[in-house]
Amino acid sequence: MTKLVTALKKIGLYKPCKYVYLNVYLSLRGQANKILILKHGNTYHCNICNSNLSKMYPFGINDDFFVQNIVIGGGYRDHVICPVCNSTDRERLVYYFLEKHTSIFSDKCKVLHFAPERNIERKLRKSNNCDYITGDIVPGRADCVVDITNIQFTDETFDYIICNHVMEHITNEELAFSELKRVLKPTGKLILSVPVCLSNPETYEDLTIISPELRLKHFGQEDHVRLYGLDIKIRLEKYGLKIDEYIFDEMEGVELREKYGLIKGDRLYYCSKEV
Ligand SMILES: [Zn+2]
Repeated sequence: MTKLVTALKKIGLYKPCKYVYLNVYLSLRGQANKILILKHGNTYHCNICNSNLSKMYPFGINDDFFVQNIVIGGGYRDHVICPVCNSTDRERLVYYFLEKHTSIFSDKCKVLHFAPERNIERKLRKSNNCDYITGDIVPGRADCVVDITNIQFTDETFDYIICNHVMEHITNEELAFSELKRVLKPTGKLILSVPVCLSNPETYEDLTIISPELRLKHFGQEDHVRLYGLDIKIRLEKYGLKIDEYIFDEMEGVELREKYGLIKGDRLYYCSKEV
């Protein structure tokens, strides 16, 4: 290709702007080849883009905190990113659960999705049955700004609320759950996940720890306010929720978890209002 550029320069036909397009073309072709190579395999399966893959990319913070404390849902993982659709392990877990264990894609339903995972968002927006809205405390990240401790929607609005990796950032957890329950329909469901520390029998919370440095040291991230422990189900039940704990390994098996590149021990909480 360099010879071609040199030759074109010699006869005065080379223009820099064309070279830019050439670079873009070569880069895209290289990316496509990479995907083709990665797709040539059957070690992993991405349930979001339905690709069989030889590899998934690693991702996550390589920090001893997550390893020593056995924190599920955080830290470095070897097989996280799908090379075709860029979905993450957490997105694939949530999508698997929504598709197999809820009627969110088949029934007419109204859905509120906090801090939306982009691949899940795309799937739900495509669904004709779903009246879907996203919310985030940070302006510009979602359809509307929503403070989870002061939700602007009226009582009993939603059939489903999806709220992954949010509650570990919320100081007033009790108020947040009270608001989530208020805007859920009586038969509504909350799909929730947080990082869970499997080495702590009890959730570690100290609301006097407010500096980013100390939060990082105690909870594993500068903006986390607690580290959930093995008591999480009991803790959530105290807020008047009926909890089904969905641990992928136990429900679907280790083999399928490895195939989908999911996190060992990863789990979701499927919550209903107590009647
Ligand atoms: Zn994919």
